[in-house]
Amino acid sequence: MAEAARTYRATAIVLRRINIGETDRVVTLYTRERGKLSGIAKGARKHLSKLAGATELFTYGRYFLGVGRELDVITQAEVKESFPGIRRDLKRIAHATYISELVNSMVEEREANYDLFDTLLSSLYMLEGGVDPEIVARHFELQMMSLMGYRPELDTCLRCDKQPSDEEIAFSPSLGGRVCGECGPLPDDVIYLSNDTLDVMRFLLSAEPQALKDLHLPPDVKEELFRAIRWYVRYRLDKDVKSSEFIQALAAVGTGEELQAEE
Ligand SMILES: [Zn+2]
Repeated sequence: MAEAARTYRATAIVLRRINIGETDRVVTLYTRERGKLSGIAKGARKHLSKLAGATELFTYGRYFLGVGRELDVITQAEVKESFPGIRRDLKRIAHATYISELVNSMVEEREANYDLFDTLLSSLYMLEGGVDPEIVARHFELQMMSLMGYRPELDTCLRCDKQPSDEEIAFSPSLGGRVCGECGPLPDDVIYLSNDTLDVMRFLLSAEPQALKDLHLPPDVKEELFRAIRWYVRYRLDKDVKSSEFIQALAAVGTGEELQAEE
């Protein structure tokens, strides 16, 4: 006798999808209510499948799932936003992929984080709305690190707790923020930041996504931010994060020089 299958609904963003078999897809969803989980969408690649659009990357929607033995089964979905503006632009696709991979790599399965979900969704809307993808990504990285308990220290020296002079702003990605040269030799990984970059970092740590629309940054500030935050993020990530998907996503948003530094 068949028992009624257990089903549930979730509001989610598609973080990743893998085609399997002839027509199926395994989809990693970041759900608002239950955190990250995977589900199989059967027949999603069939012509005219209702699940086709709903299982594309970054799609935001409402998903109906049945509890399966190994994988839950996505039975139905309603697309709320498919982000056509992101899909039209390679740079936006690269950055949306990157922030999705970052979430995928950093969160545990089935651990909800409403703030992180909302931040990811807002970031996708900012990308959709034409905000500079690099700014969206740096903002997302800093917000995400803060939400995960890794807010970088920008005001006092991490070793001696004193306020360093702003003449030499030394940021250590491995230690997680600023250090001064008074209390000892600077760590090898120190990245020097300009006052402008430090100000932008402070701004990004506290800014609502909507505030990014009016932000324009010169290339040297972007470059410093990219180096400092990117290494900071990498130090806080687990070994798992060196997944090929993450590295590819990172490479797609980096410069050639950064790519080589990867090896
Ligand atoms: Zn110090």
